[in-house]
Amino acid sequence: MTGGLSNLSVLRRNWTEYSDPSTTHVVDVAGVRFGGARPVVVAGPCAVESYEQTLSAARAVQAAGGRLLRGGAFKPRTSPYSFQGLGANGLEILARVREETGLGIVTEVQDPRMVDQVAATADMLQIGSRSMQNFPLLVEVGRAGIPVLLKRGFSATLEEWLCAAEYVAREGNTAIVLCERGVRRDCSWSHARSEFDLEVIGPLRRASPLPVIGDPSHATGEWTRVEEVSREALEAGVHGLLVEVLAPGTERSELRCDAHQGVPEDVLRRIAEFAGTWTVPAPAEDPALGVGAPS
Ligand code: PEP
Ligand code: MN
Repeated sequence: MTGGLSNLSVLRRNWTEYSDPSTTHVVDVAGVRFGGARPVVVAGPCAVESYEQTLSAARAVQAAGGRLLRGGAFKPRTSPYSFQGLGANGLEILARVREETGLGIVTEVQDPRMVDQVAATADMLQIGSRSMQNFPLLVEVGRAGIPVLLKRGFSATLEEWLCAAEYVAREGNTAIVLCERGVRRDCSWSHARSEFDLEVIGPLRRASPLPVIGDPSHATGEWTRVEEVSREALEAGVHGLLVEVLAPGTERSELRCDAHQGVPEDVLRRIAEFAGTWTVPAPAEDPALGVGAPS
């Protein structure tokens, strides 16, 4: 078989240790385990915009029961004229906030040439939805040897997503957590509606032992819907959540990135409380989606 799906090492059928569909390949990130019985909540601002905002968000995450801090120093933006993130200064802020709070850091890398620089600060490297098929980036991230959060492209099939994971895994790095962040339903000139793909979680978990988390923030684009979608994602079988939070003391109108998505602190607390009492279920039987022939 050449270039086919059936030979992917990330599939259960080829990863004999995990042939039982109720098992998961646990990924440890700074002492936090993805893939166990309890869901993991990762939260933080969309972008690192200042030290004060990031520290305030981190304290809220910690107080709510979140286990890792997310926040982008390098932001993938649709328009080249939008705020692109604080870059290296953002990484420094993240490092200071980790020092201050002890929370491990999840942050995005977009450019294969910058993997070492971002990996020097990150505890987990995020591959954004738009980069899921940036193959040179996947290879470099695989070589960096630290855990990877691989978001699903917003129009990617399950096969394409697993093939992307394979690019990382074949470099010797199987510390991969997948993240469903919503798929596009329809789009017009300036606006696209997304939907959290509940249907993909069961089939994915049956196909591969890699843990999968849900991102209700980018899936909805609207903080008022994040709590409801967090519950639905957990019920569908995710091993955790990636949630954007509005830092206490920050006005939405000041934010330069995803201003409508961040949940207030009390909502994050409710989400984390629910997750804290939840047991990740075994993957559903009879997946609706098959894993067919790749292209
Ligand atoms: C993000 O996590 O802030 C982000 C840009 O997400 P996505 O790549 O899913 O759009
Ligand atoms: Mn965002």
